[in-house]
Amino acid sequence: MISPSWREEVLTLARTVHLQVDREGRILDAIGDSVTLLGEPREALIDRPLHELDDSRVRLAATLIEQFSSLALEPGQSRAVEADACGVYALTDGSVALRLTAEASDDDGVIRRLADRLPVMVAYIDPDGCFRLNNQAYLDFIGLSREALYGRPVSSVLDEASYAKVAPRFRRALAGEEVKYEDRLTLTDGRTYYFKVHYVPDYINAEVAGFYAIIQDISEYGAMIQLLRDVHTGINRTDIGTREIVERLLDDALAYLSLEVGLISRIEDERYTIWWAASRGPEIMPGTTFPLGDTYCRLMLDEADVFHTVQASEDPRISGHPCYRTFGLESYIGIPLRVDGRVWGTLNFSSTAPRGRPFSEIEEELLRLIANAAERVITHEAEFERVRRERDRMTDRAMTDHLTGLPNRSALERHIERLMQARADGAPPFSLAVLDIDHFKVINDTHGHDIGDRVLCWLAERMAQCLRDGDIVARAGGEEFVIVMPGASQRAAREIVERVRTHVRRGRIPLGDGQEIGVTVSGGIGEHQPGEPYPGLFRRVDTALYAAKRAGRDRTHLAACPA
Ligand code: GH3
Ligand code: MG
Ligand code: MG
Repeated sequence: MISPSWREEVLTLARTVHLQVDREGRILDAIGDSVTLLGEPREALIDRPLHELDDSRVRLAATLIEQFSSLALEPGQSRAVEADACGVYALTDGSVALRLTAEASDDDGVIRRLADRLPVMVAYIDPDGCFRLNNQAYLDFIGLSREALYGRPVSSVLDEASYAKVAPRFRRALAGEEVKYEDRLTLTDGRTYYFKVHYVPDYINAEVAGFYAIIQDISEYGAMIQLLRDVHTGINRTDIGTREIVERLLDDALAYLSLEVGLISRIEDERYTIWWAASRGPEIMPGTTFPLGDTYCRLMLDEADVFHTVQASEDPRISGHPCYRTFGLESYIGIPLRVDGRVWGTLNFSSTAPRGRPFSEIEEELLRLIANAAERVITHEAEFERVRRERDRMTDRAMTDHLTGLPNRSALERHIERLMQARADGAPPFSLAVLDIDHFKVINDTHGHDIGDRVLCWLAERMAQCLRDGDIVARAGGEEFVIVMPGASQRAAREIVERVRTHVRRGRIPLGDGQEIGVTVSGGIGEHQPGEPYPGLFRRVDTALYAAKRAGRDRTHLAACPA
């Protein structure tokens, strides 16, 4: 005898349940293993809406049934929609049959399987702003299970301010508009990301039933764009110095790479010298040097390109190298810096901690970009320095007497100008002496012009020897010298100049052939008077010099007070 319940028995053995559902998603009947598959006996299921059942596959099926309704089947037509986990069939009486099998219980359907394989986050959001579907990428990102998220409002995963930003966009999507945006959003747990989002409205029977949200975490790109902007504006700044520009560059890159120390180092003769540094850990002093062979940069320079590691202790290229024993850095990324085609130094970032994630190609590219910017700054700085040195050299040359190396007349005049300015600003007076070699013409005539020159050089050195710091002696022309003594009264100046004069007359100038000669000088001395112009002062002193000459030479005379 055939049991009337054989269908029930077969379905139970096949671990399958069939639900008859009306177009509103209400359960009309159930046959098969409802207890195992849905945790409830047939009687408990009747008249319940599908959405109420605590089985995500059933809820998914409910969505399918809604979509199935949109097919607007004529009564009597039967069409199956297969989605692995469940099958949905239109029955001739207008109801729908839903089949669920235990075999497929781990596998909730093609749509979700597909969605789960997408690298982007996908969610389906209903008109109440609640989740109806979340793919694996979404679940991994939020850190909640499918069940925990199902039916929850989106406002429960975003912080208040962020939800306030997205809510109007939800309304637009629910009004049927495709919405695309990029924005920085903060989750309820405080994490902030840069998202690229696309909402696609879902139409059922010409009504928007909800929308798909396709969400990409572009935080890395967002941060990179910010960094690129910073790099660009940073290196073109004129309101801050080179050091600050470079340190900011290093600092921005450090934050982006999540490392501890950023360095630009100079390499010369196998020595590694820290030039610029940025650190989020220990303070690093520019100027510190190491043998290049002990550094990670040695390894990098051998590669001649970007070189990196995120766990040096496990990296056979590094773990046995002296650099690992010396510095013990787990994470490192470095690149050579070249100026005029030659290695100038290195740019490198490091951390004593392993980084956790490998350096991406984007990060390598970024390092090249920063290296480029640094090379520009360095080249610019080197060029600037060269021009400055050249200018200084020219100025020096224009201000120096070629024969004696003493300041020349131009330098003397500039110096006096500064002293007069200081005087006007309240500095104490200065004194001036003009010294002239006695009978210099005779030396030239007797020993030749070359010896005359030698005497001038000897004299320059001899006079400079007995001056205090701050006093200067300049060659004003020919065999005439000027001593300027800031802060010295006429009396004090006389003492100084007398000391010079005596020192000169005691000296002996070797002529090279065993002979020696001596020279004497005569001088005039005067103290600058308030408001007195330089030519006036010079004239007074020169007159005193002339008087000293007439009085017999090898002596000094004080200038008369101005009329
Ligand atoms: P007095 O004691 O009166 O100063 O006599 P003097 O011979 O030193 O003065 P005079 O002005 O007659 O001669 C200065 C000489 O200095 C004439 C000039 O040839 C010489 N002289 C000027 N500049 C230089 C120089 O650069 N090198 C040499 N060797 N001689 C110079
Ligand atoms: Mg003279
Ligand atoms: Mg003379």
